[in-house]
Amino acid sequence: MSETPKFPNYINGEWVAAEKTYENRNPADTSDVVGIFSKASAADVTAAANAAHEAFAGWAGLPGPARGNYLFKVADLLEKQLDSLAREMTREEGKTFPEAKGETMRSINIFRYFGGEGSRQAGVLAPSERPRVFMWAERKALGVVSLINPWNFPSAIPAWKLAPALISGNTVLLKPASAAPLSSWRIIEACHNAGIPKGVVNFLSGSGGEVGDAMVDNEHVKAVSFTGSCEVGYALHERASKRRIRIQLEMGGKNPTIVLADADMASAVANSLNAAMFSTGQKCTATSRIIVEESIYDEFAAKFIAETKKLKVGNGLAEGVHIGPAIDKGQLDVDANYCKIAEEEGATIACGGKVLSDGDYAKGYFFEPTVITNVTNDMRIAREEVFGPVAALIKAKDFDDAMAIANDTEFGLSASVQTQDVGRVFEFIKGIQAGLVTVNLPSAGVEYQLPFGGTKGSSFGPKEQGPAALEFYSDYKTVYLKY
Ligand code: NAP
Repeated sequence: MSETPKFPNYINGEWVAAEKTYENRNPADTSDVVGIFSKASAADVTAAANAAHEAFAGWAGLPGPARGNYLFKVADLLEKQLDSLAREMTREEGKTFPEAKGETMRSINIFRYFGGEGSRQAGVLAPSERPRVFMWAERKALGVVSLINPWNFPSAIPAWKLAPALISGNTVLLKPASAAPLSSWRIIEACHNAGIPKGVVNFLSGSGGEVGDAMVDNEHVKAVSFTGSCEVGYALHERASKRRIRIQLEMGGKNPTIVLADADMASAVANSLNAAMFSTGQKCTATSRIIVEESIYDEFAAKFIAETKKLKVGNGLAEGVHIGPAIDKGQLDVDANYCKIAEEEGATIACGGKVLSDGDYAKGYFFEPTVITNVTNDMRIAREEVFGPVAALIKAKDFDDAMAIANDTEFGLSASVQTQDVGRVFEFIKGIQAGLVTVNLPSAGVEYQLPFGGTKGSSFGPKEQGPAALEFYSDYKTVYLKY
């Protein structure tokens, strides 16, 4: 039997094994140990922050295109391993191999996109009121930035934080989620192999409380980008505020898809199914409330339930599987518990709702794709994030009622409408309280070229991705020059 690979942390250009380690196991088959990871200590965070602080002037001083070349190299190195990286991602996170391959390709594209930004970064040039005065504002890097990541997009989210941070000239402390640390470890390995100077990138795997908090509290850290749960995000916000450093939070959602009576039924069913169930519902932009106009509710529900029942649950590496496992036992219990709560509150489990544990499912955390009907928006199933393959169907009297239900939530990440009516489309875009809006598409499935992020309780601070990402990772220096 081959030895389980070990994945140390990366501090100041060196691979550093910590005294304490933890195993990462495949959620589809817990007898499969994906790797043994180092548990960084607060002292490791200090060492990494010191190294990043030391490396900052050199990295920020490089011309943007030179930093861009490093990012292009990272992209090339990742692309050479596309299939093996995707397989590893499926083993560590559970999503299907095609989903993992798509995500890995997205990370590669993100590095290429931001590599290009190295040659494009522009400031502001404006005419002065005064004669012989030339004035402009240029972007400058912040310093050391901490990037704290969730497990559900273990490559793309670290990539969409790391690439803009680096191209802006910052040096980085990156923490993966303990549940899925390998994909971002591979990105750091590519940074190392691309020759990014020591100290510029540091990887610290370990417990959220110990490593994450130290990554916010360290005196050299000038900004924190966090994606994860509201609970942790809000606490980090308070912590960062005490130090008056900037923080960006992307957190949970309770995303609605509105299906209007005139929608193309087949496409509305397919889009809702994709958004609610794929990636096991473990996308922050997943649809969890499907709000359907009364006149087509029964037809939509019947078709949606029939399509849900056809979904094949299993190990994401197997052919034909649509839905992988939950990330861990805790998430599996949450999925099951919310179904129980929904029933207790008067909703109906129309299909699914159970943990799968027989036969091939015995060693993993599998849950039946679930449709819950007779849901009203005041029930907990309609108000709290589940993060599983669980869709709640809610009846709306008409468009206005559907909008009121959709907006009646503390969250505001993504939202979708399914309709052929152009007027309704624009009313939806205008009135819906969400940072990300889709029309006749699934609520999930974003591209890296545009800003990404939510509103209301889902998010805080400048958006990620696209040109907007540079806002967070840089500051303006304004210059007035008399000649
Ligand atoms: P989480 O439990 O909040 O963890 C996120 C990260 O924070 C992990 O790296 C975690 O480390 C770390 N952490 C935990 N406690 C910490 C602390 N006290 N101080 C500093 N860091 C700490 O979230 P998750 O379960 O990984 O991810 C699922 C959540 O992320 C869902 O709510 C989902 O909606 C949200 N999400 C949002 C977006 C978005 O863009 N809006 C995208 C993806 C996911 P450990 O893993 O070591 O505990």
